Amino acid sequence: MAMRRPGGKRLRAALAAAGLGALVGVAGLPDGFGRWETDRVSLRAGVACAQPPASENVRLDSRRAYQYLVRICRIGPRPSGSAGMARQQALIAEHFSKLKAEVQFQSFEVSHPLTGASVRLQNIFVVWHPERKDRILLACHYDTRPFPDRDPYNPRGKFIGANDGASGVALLMELGHHIRQVTENSGFGVDFVFFDGEEFVFSANDKYFLGSEHFARQYRSERPKHRYSCGVLLDMIGDKRLTIYMERNSWKHARALTESIWAAARRAGVREFIPKLKYEVSDDHLPLNQIAGIPTCDIIDFDYPYWHTTRDVPTACSGASLVKVGRVLIEWIRELPPSE
Ligand SMILES: [Zn+2]
Repeated sequence: MAMRRPGGKRLRAALAAAGLGALVGVAGLPDGFGRWETDRVSLRAGVACAQPPASENVRLDSRRAYQYLVRICRIGPRPSGSAGMARQQALIAEHFSKLKAEVQFQSFEVSHPLTGASVRLQNIFVVWHPERKDRILLACHYDTRPFPDRDPYNPRGKFIGANDGASGVALLMELGHHIRQVTENSGFGVDFVFFDGEEFVFSANDKYFLGSEHFARQYRSERPKHRYSCGVLLDMIGDKRLTIYMERNSWKHARALTESIWAAARRAGVREFIPKLKYEVSDDHLPLNQIAGIPTCDIIDFDYPYWHTTRDVPTACSGASLVKVGRVLIEWIRELPPSE
């Protein structure tokens, strides 16, 4: 993803001045809270369930989640079109096929930003309950930046992308063990979507979000048989010192959805989700919100000291952090109303 930084091409920092970040009360929400920008899905916060939901028994495995992250990082750098990326694609396809999900590839060609040669990019869809028309989308990018260009000592060094790349993939791999159970009686389906080309960038002028933009344009123009009610994007969720503020573009485009996720965090007792706005981040959720019209929230820990440096490695991450985000997602999904 990119931060917006005034004066910079892609990076325009919009860190709110201390005290100016809106404190978002998640208790006592006004009327209207509970309906997203889409009218097909609403929340039922506070509604007691006669039967305890199956997801209450879900136990995410932090060690296994961390092992997934390590396994992905062992591949090495995974920029779009690279051999490392091809190995990761095989790993993801194998993992979810074993879990009996439907795995689909969405391929498209782009020009290499440096050489102009054609490069094949692939978004991966992992489809749960494929027969269900109403769906939600849980997404992350799975390509890594070609170089750690914010590294003060070695900006042309090796970039592994443990948090910025592998963390979202690792959590979705862990969630793959549970999502069918969590959504068994919900009536809606879930797609895990792995976006390629989020940061296939070598210089300030290169385009971001190639995969999510391609997906969004296809979704808008081809009118698929199913419909996404909303989306959640996961990016940099593995930091050992997890701190996740509400992100400003998510607030702007999908406010009720964003509120509902932080409300779920509160119910789940995950204090690392702080109900305040802080950063404005340009990320894969922009094409989803602006082109596809799918209200999408970015869950991103932007207080990560090793962003785009050679130190973004597994030891900077933890399975406990991954699982905390997973618990919030499950709690949030649990409160989604059953689809008619
Ligand atoms: Zn990045």
